Amino acid sequence: MSDLFTELTAPNGHKYTQPRGLFINNEFVKAQSGQTIASINPSDESEITSVHAAGPEDVNAAVSAARKAFEDPSWRDIDTNARADLLYKFAELIEKHRETLATIETWDNGKPYSVSYNDDLAEVISTIKYYAGYANKIHGQVIDTSPAKLAYTVRQPLGVCGQIIPWNFPLAMAAWKLGPALCTGNTIVMKAAEQTPLSILYLATLVKEAGFPPGVVNILNGEGRVAGAALAKHEGVDKIAFTGSTATGKEIMKMAAVNMKNITLETGGKSPLLVFEDADLDQAVKWAHVGIMYNQGQVCTATSRILVHESVYDKFVSEFKKYVSQVSVVGDPFSDSTFQGPQVTKAQYERVLSYIEAGKADGAELVHGGQPHKDVNGKGFFIAPTIFTNVKDDMRIYREEVFGPFVVISSFKTEEEAIERANDTTYGLGAALFTENITRGHRVARRIEAGMVWINSSNDSDVRIPFGGVKQSGIGRELGEAGLEAYTNVKAIHVNLGNRL
Ligand code: ADP
Repeated sequence: MSDLFTELTAPNGHKYTQPRGLFINNEFVKAQSGQTIASINPSDESEITSVHAAGPEDVNAAVSAARKAFEDPSWRDIDTNARADLLYKFAELIEKHRETLATIETWDNGKPYSVSYNDDLAEVISTIKYYAGYANKIHGQVIDTSPAKLAYTVRQPLGVCGQIIPWNFPLAMAAWKLGPALCTGNTIVMKAAEQTPLSILYLATLVKEAGFPPGVVNILNGEGRVAGAALAKHEGVDKIAFTGSTATGKEIMKMAAVNMKNITLETGGKSPLLVFEDADLDQAVKWAHVGIMYNQGQVCTATSRILVHESVYDKFVSEFKKYVSQVSVVGDPFSDSTFQGPQVTKAQYERVLSYIEAGKADGAELVHGGQPHKDVNGKGFFIAPTIFTNVKDDMRIYREEVFGPFVVISSFKTEEEAIERANDTTYGLGAALFTENITRGHRVARRIEAGMVWINSSNDSDVRIPFGGVKQSGIGRELGEAGLEAYTNVKAIHVNLGNRL
């Protein structure tokens, strides 16, 4: 065992080699900062291992490596079929190492293993394959103006892209950013979240094995305020793509202004879910559950504000409560019967508990949960799924993003009121609505201020479909064809065909 690797056995018995260094130029190296970050298992609060944490000098080294790789003909001039092959190879390797990656994700983040393996890893693989398919289909246009002049456009990579990812879907968020950036020929310095530093380092080993030239993908762990800020401010970085909280997104925007970096921000939300009087209530209950309780409620698009027509309010609340009690089984994330594992960190656990106190203090009615769940092993950051009803629009629990298994329910009288209250938020990420009236469904969907609307579902996401927010939920889109626009510049080339002015 060297300082840069350690042999680990996960709680499910899976043995593997965990890298611990910074991944620069296809090698794991020690941090010049001399700093480390401890990675904590949220299920029992034990330390899994520690990893090297980048300081500004390490960020400089990674950015230099990415710049050199960007200018190197082995990447810059690569045939786009060969670039596609590299991405396909990368996807195949992820598939081959799926069990290890899913194990690390669950151990470090706390999400159920079935979710890591079936959902997160499936998403990672399909995202990389989807963008592999695009690598040889990035092209511009010829624009006819007159017989004397020809103009055409080429879509060129932006350059060195800084990518800052969150802890709720570490590998999936990495894939959403790596896929489009690589398929368009950029180079990358990615910074993982300090709460979940492990899976991304294992992914780095597959970057090298897939055959990407050194420096094309560099991966750092490090504190947000240190390594993340150094990346956002760096004059040698052309773009910052960020997923995380709205407050941090605003800081990043300011720092990125230093050299007017291109930015993509995917930030917070307080997404509404509307249940109209003509809804299929069974469907509404099921989707409302998954919409807020999936991934321990740690989802930026979680439909955390449920608004129900007054005529079906009582029925919805009682059915929803029953469904949550039956399905939201809290437990060991490596157990097959678990729906909900621990919150990712003590800080998040305490944050959710503080909102429970705020809800009680403000006079909302607690109808389910509302306390830590201590039945797993007496330790860990588990919280009982929590439902508040009779919530007023000015309460903190109605307005602020909690990011936990925590939902508020309120009633409305008319469609107009439902739309107004759905839009009465600084956020605009997702919104769900339930109605059996097709006209109403489309009418309301158009009026909701959100990047994504789900009619009769919640939190559907697909690699082929653009994802992102409006208002303070973000700028730009990821996934789908729209995701490619975030990683290319359109260059116009004018050609004078005649001997004319
Ligand atoms: P959360 O509050 O849920 O932890 P953050 O938005 O703070 O979410 O974190 C998301 C990502 O942003 C993480 O990788 C984190 O390290 C990074 N980050 C946090 N603060 C900063 C900052 N000031 N500058 C750059 N990156 C940051």
